[in-house]
Amino acid sequence: MSAVLIDGRQYAADLSARLADEVEELACTGERPGLATVVVGNSYPAHAYERRVRRLAERVGCHYVCEALPGAAAEADALAVVGKLGADPRISGILILRPLPAQVSEASLYRALDPIKDIESVHPISAGLLALGRPRYVPSTPASVFHLLDRYLTESGRDPAQTYRQSNLVVVGRSANVGKPALMLAMDRGATVVSCDEHSHAAGLLFEHTTQADILIVAAGVAGLIRGKHVKQGVIAVDVGINAIKDGDTGKVRLVGDIDTEDVAGRAEAITPVPGGVGPITDVWLLRNTVAAARLAQGIGAAFPSTEGLQLPVIC
Ligand code: NDP
Repeated sequence: MSAVLIDGRQYAADLSARLADEVEELACTGERPGLATVVVGNSYPAHAYERRVRRLAERVGCHYVCEALPGAAAEADALAVVGKLGADPRISGILILRPLPAQVSEASLYRALDPIKDIESVHPISAGLLALGRPRYVPSTPASVFHLLDRYLTESGRDPAQTYRQSNLVVVGRSANVGKPALMLAMDRGATVVSCDEHSHAAGLLFEHTTQADILIVAAGVAGLIRGKHVKQGVIAVDVGINAIKDGDTGKVRLVGDIDTEDVAGRAEAITPVPGGVGPITDVWLLRNTVAAARLAQGIGAAFPSTEGLQLPVIC
């Protein structure tokens, strides 16, 4: 392996250094930040993510609630939970975990969120603000991707602004939570942006584009989708994917990304590992957005403006 492995855990530790103090300062004014997660069903990645977020929330002193519904829950039950959390003054931010079962519409749940508590910017109003370059909260996963890229580019002696403007940046995956907001943040930075999805793959176009990428962001949820032959020599590759793979012999589950790390590392300049790349930063960013939401609820602005920590803030 010759590529630089970007250490997301270290970046996350640096970002979270002030978090517990911010939470305590708010708690002293009577507004302890509160995070709620909503999980429907038994998805392994959703529950693994919930446990990570719970641990971090408790460590930094946030009030934390997880509303877990069975996989057979009706949409009305899930909507009732989102409504209840919206009305609960102890809750500053709400995260609806995916995947949701087929009978529960993601769009309906997102519409039911109070936009002030919508720390992932998935409500139509929040998504519109993000598309206009004026997000109230930068959603945690794409924010983490660009925080990581901004910091890596700076540390490797480059000006991120200039680098983005001179780069072909390809995003694989276009979900409302990850791929689309990542595309918007990339456009705001002046990169030449290409979006690929499952249709691009089916049409035989995916690897035509990934091999042109100077910066490649992969968020497809397909283990090992991108191999060495699918990237350009010297690419900076960010692996967002988290896929649970069960060992046939031991039954143990391990997490892998969408990029075949070993294979791509032979050609890449830098690559993010899974686990230990984007994920740890995402967790911290979610809590930062929760703190920002608590400040907004108090009418005193954001402790962490949602763009702080991103080198090229989108226009607020
Ligand atoms: P979704 O399933 O909502 O979206 C997947 C996207 O990838 C879709 O746009 C889909 O295309 C596209 N896609 C699927 N298969 C292919 C393929 N073979 N080739 C090209 N594109 C493909 O997933 P999410 O966006 O929510 O998550 C993506 C991954 O990131 C998952 O592994 C998830 O676990 C992980 N994740 C990681 C986080 C972190 O902090 N590291 C946080 C959030 C998610 P189409 O639109 O055509 O269906």
